[in-house]
Amino acid sequence: MTPPVLSVVIPMYNEQEVLPLLIARLRPLLDGAGLDYEVVAVDDGSSDATAPMLLLACREWAELRVVRLRRNSGHQAALTAGLHRARGEYVASIDADLQDPPEKILDMLALARAESLDIVYGVRDDRTTDTAFKRHTAQVYYLLMRRLVGKKVPADAGDFRLLSRAAVEALRAMPERQPVYRLLVPWLGFPSGEVTYRREARAAGSTKYPLSKMIKLAVDSVTNFSAAPLRLATWSGLLSFFACFVLGCYSVVRFAMGETVSGWTSLFTAILFLGGVQLLCLGLLGEYMGRLYTEIKGRPTYIVGYDSAEAGQVVAR
Ligand code: UDP
Ligand code: MG
Repeated sequence: MTPPVLSVVIPMYNEQEVLPLLIARLRPLLDGAGLDYEVVAVDDGSSDATAPMLLLACREWAELRVVRLRRNSGHQAALTAGLHRARGEYVASIDADLQDPPEKILDMLALARAESLDIVYGVRDDRTTDTAFKRHTAQVYYLLMRRLVGKKVPADAGDFRLLSRAAVEALRAMPERQPVYRLLVPWLGFPSGEVTYRREARAAGSTKYPLSKMIKLAVDSVTNFSAAPLRLATWSGLLSFFACFVLGCYSVVRFAMGETVSGWTSLFTAILFLGGVQLLCLGLLGEYMGRLYTEIKGRPTYIVGYDSAEAGQVVAR
């Protein structure tokens, strides 16, 4: 079987409201593009009607492949499952909620082919449809990530992008258990381009990224890419040592002058400060140790319960 030119990977978690709209927009677009394609819909352990709806759709849409994960493993894990299964020469990833216009996938493909690029990012030039909270947290996130990973990380590029087979294989070769693709992809260093687009409001349903999942993504991003927070421990240790040294000299000088520094407040402050610094450092160490533990256990990022291309086989990675 020759691989298709284009694979479109779509992670979905409880997207029953948006699924009919997505199919109605994506299918005519891809059918009309005049190329061989496949759509890999990854159902990230949805508890609503997403799974049965996908199975129904895949009966009469031959190009649709449905992969169902046994449990909700998160957006990045669902993306991993999709990237591992996509067979196309180029692999696009897009959210299910139509915030990213599927039409742009064809622009990305045209750009990648015309300029022999391995990566084409979808970059949002307008996020006014996102909530103010989302925009501000995103701003801080991208600012931090550009400092940690380098300037290569395009600001406001989420997980809407196109990858060549070479880039997908490079990602697949990474044994990471908690990948953050918006950082790993620029880190690869392949030739890349951008297609800008306007971020629409979610077509239906509600966000599947509550604050807890946003925080997890942020912590994963920092700890995956940098040991800088560990160095923070050294710096705060040095700083508190310096503060204690100054304070110590001060009391010795006062003592030499025949006085003693009175009161418990300064003592208490110093104790609390040191306690705080130590707890912070322990917490940081714990965070990295937890990560090491997860990587060493080597548990799969996701477990596939069903794959329409393998008809019911249980496959774990
Ligand atoms: N998603 C997923 N698993 C999750 C959470 C989200 O597969 O645990 C999918 C979701 O269905 C959507 C994409 O990830 O296709 C982005 O989620 P969403 O649009 O809710 O995030 P937001 O745009 O609000 O940041
Ligand atoms: Mg969305």
